[in-house]
Amino acid sequence: MIEIDGSEGEGGGQVVRNSCALSLVTGKPFRIANVRGKRSKPGLMRQHVTAVEAAARIGNAEVEGLEVGSTEIAFRPGRVEPGEYHFSVGTAGSTGLVLQTVLMPLVLADRPSRLVLEGGTHNMLAPPFDFIERAFLPVINRMGPRVEARLVRHGFYPRGGGRIEVDITPAPLRPIECLESGALGDASAQVVFAGLPGEIALRMMTRLRKDFPDWHEEAFSLRELPADQGPGIILMIEARKDTVTEIASGFGQLGVPAERLAKTAAGRLKGYVESGAFAGPYLADQLVLPFVLAGAGCFTTVKPSGHLLTGIEIARRFVGTRIDLDLNESGHHQVTFA
Ligand code: AMP
Repeated sequence: MIEIDGSEGEGGGQVVRNSCALSLVTGKPFRIANVRGKRSKPGLMRQHVTAVEAAARIGNAEVEGLEVGSTEIAFRPGRVEPGEYHFSVGTAGSTGLVLQTVLMPLVLADRPSRLVLEGGTHNMLAPPFDFIERAFLPVINRMGPRVEARLVRHGFYPRGGGRIEVDITPAPLRPIECLESGALGDASAQVVFAGLPGEIALRMMTRLRKDFPDWHEEAFSLRELPADQGPGIILMIEARKDTVTEIASGFGQLGVPAERLAKTAAGRLKGYVESGAFAGPYLADQLVLPFVLAGAGCFTTVKPSGHLLTGIEIARRFVGTRIDLDLNESGHHQVTFA
């Protein structure tokens, strides 16, 4: 039994999700004490319970301590069963984070799977659907599997009600080298909103035009969804480079001015583009699982986040792959798997 202290490192839900995924692939059971020990409300929240339940369903696992508020869980994996699954978070909890939990075991299974995931699709502190579709999955598909995701309905916090569908054609994960991001091609900014005054979206756009004065007018777009998909608003700024796409997001929050959200997201995207690294801060932590399971390969990234460092620590507990994090000759942080 692998024993994990859930308050170490980043101390959040990623420790739980990545442990489930790694456990299902390796067949190794684990126990986590102090679940989400570094969060202001420690223990499992609804969305983590759904993620672990999903892992248990696809992998015939036995789980102890699986309830909202639980601070200790034990997980004994069984055989991964690919197929059709429908998981509903029930709140606005992130569908993307449920996907993170079950994707690698299903990508490495022996038959295709189809997932329907319901809950939030564009919520804070989680990858928005667009990020999964255009930043994360293209890297996975380059490694061999074929994963296609569709957004059927948006779901914002707190109402939820979003739906995504994912088709997974498994294949062994091929090691790849992702050192350069290449030249910047298209770049664009989109504000998607529902059930809120359009004036908020317009204020975000006005601020973004100031941040990116060289961009063409067509690079900026507004999309208003039917009001019953809201209330909610998200800003996504996308940079398509030769080998990778990055999306910096700003999630509408009560009390945070639209201009400030736009300015922060724009600053993040510019920092990423100027760095020349392959992976932005979020993509980097999400790539640890596929790369460690490929057993080799490397990627460069911006300044390592707590999520990246913790993701590496957790992966080391399950898999023998060596993982090094160094500054390479080009001055980039490089994560190498061997
Ligand atoms: P945790 O905080 O432990 O629940 O983990 C959050 C996960 O969501 C990490 O894998 C992050 O990379 C991811 N994430 C959070 N915010 C974003 C964002 N704005 N864009 C993409 N991924 C995100």
